[in-house]
Amino acid sequence: MTAMKIRVTAIPEEGLFLELDQATKWFHALLRERFSEIHPGGAPASGRIELQKTLQNVALSGDLSIALHPSCASCGKAFDSRLEVPLLRNLAPYFSGPREGLLSEEEEIELSAEDLEFSFYHNDEIDLGEIVSEEITLALPIRFLCKEDCRGLCPRCGADRNEGSCACAEEVEGSPFAVLKGLKLKS
Ligand SMILES: [Zn+2]
Ligand SMILES: [Zn+2]
Repeated sequence: MTAMKIRVTAIPEEGLFLELDQATKWFHALLRERFSEIHPGGAPASGRIELQKTLQNVALSGDLSIALHPSCASCGKAFDSRLEVPLLRNLAPYFSGPREGLLSEEEEIELSAEDLEFSFYHNDEIDLGEIVSEEITLALPIRFLCKEDCRGLCPRCGADRNEGSCACAEEVEGSPFAVLKGLKLKS
């Protein structure tokens, strides 16, 4: 797994700004490892990430723009698409062991369950690769469609209905009374 760790203590007071482009190796390695089915290697992907620290808490924000080449869930054709991923995450240090004046473990768990944009970092390290990967996954649609009104494939002959009606079309699209009519004719 591609690791891109940021040390919290190394985040400067004015914040840390990362520009992701075609030359950002960890970003493209991550896309290749986790999203190769929808993102062809070398396809454009860019973004920016900002990390701001307040005491030990870190606010991560930014956005990503990723070229996709998924297959349509309806007709199966591969097509070009683009995914815009907003980044927003508040990170707090995770403490294990005894603590004083800090949230109890129960309170921490409650807090994280309430706030999806909240998570913990461990040992002074923020795993940027993990966060970016999670945010991309969250931003992906449940299924890709080449166009909103994709007509899909004919279940009978497999013809692409976007390219015109096949011979089966009339039967399939006939009125419900067509069936009754057929019965009458037979009798
Ligand atoms: Zn389609
Ligand atoms: Zn057909």
